[in-house]
Amino acid sequence: MKKRTKYVFITGGVVSSLGKGITSASLALLLKSRGYNVFMQKLDPYLNIDPGTMSPYQHGEVFVTDDGTEADLDLGHYERFAGVTCSKASNYTSGKIYSAVLQRERQGGYLGGTVQVIPHITNEIKSAIRSAAGPDVDIVLCEIGGVSGDIESLPFLEAARQFRFEEGPNNTCFVHLTLVPYLRAAGELKTKPSQQSVAVLRSIGIIPDILVCRTEMPIPQEHRDKLALFCNVRKERVIEELDITTSVYAIPKALSEQHLDEEVLKQLDLKMKPIKHTAWDELVRRATKPKTECTIALVGKYVAIKDAYKSVHEAFQHAGMASYAKVKVKFIEAEDLEKSTRSLQGVDGILVPGGFGSRGVNGKCVAIRYARENKIPFLGICLGMQCTVIEFARNVLKWKDANSTEFDPKTTHPVIDLMEEQKKITDKGGTMRLGAYPCKLTKGSAAAKAYGTTEISERHRHRYELSYDSESCKALEKAGLKVVGLSPDKKLVEVVELPNHPYFVACQFHPEFKSRPTLPHPLFDNLVRAALKYKQEREQKKAKPSGKGKAKKTSAK
Ligand code: GLN
Repeated sequence: MKKRTKYVFITGGVVSSLGKGITSASLALLLKSRGYNVFMQKLDPYLNIDPGTMSPYQHGEVFVTDDGTEADLDLGHYERFAGVTCSKASNYTSGKIYSAVLQRERQGGYLGGTVQVIPHITNEIKSAIRSAAGPDVDIVLCEIGGVSGDIESLPFLEAARQFRFEEGPNNTCFVHLTLVPYLRAAGELKTKPSQQSVAVLRSIGIIPDILVCRTEMPIPQEHRDKLALFCNVRKERVIEELDITTSVYAIPKALSEQHLDEEVLKQLDLKMKPIKHTAWDELVRRATKPKTECTIALVGKYVAIKDAYKSVHEAFQHAGMASYAKVKVKFIEAEDLEKSTRSLQGVDGILVPGGFGSRGVNGKCVAIRYARENKIPFLGICLGMQCTVIEFARNVLKWKDANSTEFDPKTTHPVIDLMEEQKKITDKGGTMRLGAYPCKLTKGSAAAKAYGTTEISERHRHRYELSYDSESCKALEKAGLKVVGLSPDKKLVEVVELPNHPYFVACQFHPEFKSRPTLPHPLFDNLVRAALKYKQEREQKKAKPSGKGKAKKTSAK
């Protein structure tokens, strides 16, 4: 007989940016380590159908799943921490929920009835939550976006309340993440904001079972007692989540030491297997005590937004840990490189990530030329690969106006052009080439060596391409830019690279989405290894008396 799926709801209180995604992902890892099959889901209160049309300034990175869902970046945490595979059932927005209900209304699905938030929207939310409970899923972890008290998250919270009523207290668990601020002037931790945010939840019928308290100071017992009393939570269920400065990958163990996973399993009436933290302890050790370091420039256009390149940043950390190295990511605004390349001096590697729109494209080409000519390890991703092609066409083939038709529809050298199947599409949301596609690599190429295979599958999010059949592709190849990865029908170029360069690889897909802390992505891993080698060789040259004067000049500091 199939076991009954149990549900954990994670809500947030007091302020946003408390790290609800990482806390949820850490809990999922712990439950998985205890032997349970977990599915993760994020409910977002905004009205966009998905974040795919939002600017990184609004939303940070758009994460892409294997099945081609453009999703909230928290899904990245879920996949990285818990090793789960997310899908379209992993992310619902209010927009997606309302759209389904309104479509059904137009089709006569509610003929004769008045369509209302309760029960129609809440029913749709509940069926979205139930859609996460596949046959093998023991526990669904459902993170509700926003902060308690927000008007727009009310239907989600109401659906969760009904869920508990329907499924029963031992099949549901409410975890509320809150902030216990430290007031420096008073020299005290304050519990009132948490009391108030729980009071808001209780006013809508949700009584949290477990309180997870973000704090910069350890919470003394008397404060825990107070929180338990006022928030109606058992004392042992006031869990401290102390700020961690070492590595985010230390968070799961810290939460387990506070018994978060045990309390969740007790609430759900589930048995507990002992847990081993060894692999993650080793990660934290490597992250906190690196043996070496390198600096890699990330040349993008949303560099002021911390979350815009979240998965790329994490992929660097994973690759760094694999090499016992600290990877310092130097964010460089692409447009600034149009004036000077000074900021690139002294870096050990360069990465140009994905992006949209013409701003910054010329600066990205400057960075790529710098990497190509100075033999600095380089990885280009999506727009980064398209810019690699544009740069090569402009500066090696001397096609001065070479461009993508995304940026210059009238260029005489459209080296990157809209994909054929995109030409008839007018809608902007969810219409790119999205999700996992297979790719065949050339044997012996740097990419194939990195992967250790020639058959790969990677995630995509783009409309434009380098067509393998095009005249420009033949000219690029002849001039030395090698096509080493193709779609199985041999139409679309997926990877290009330069031979006679320590590491110069550019791919149309997004490798960063598949990197894991314990399994770094091969293209990032090899970029970091090449950067460490480049740094070592540069330092050796510097140490030689003959090279001294010159080396000083080019040194970054
Ligand atoms: N703007 C480019 C395209 O749509 C690249 C997209 C990306 O980098 N994700 O093809």
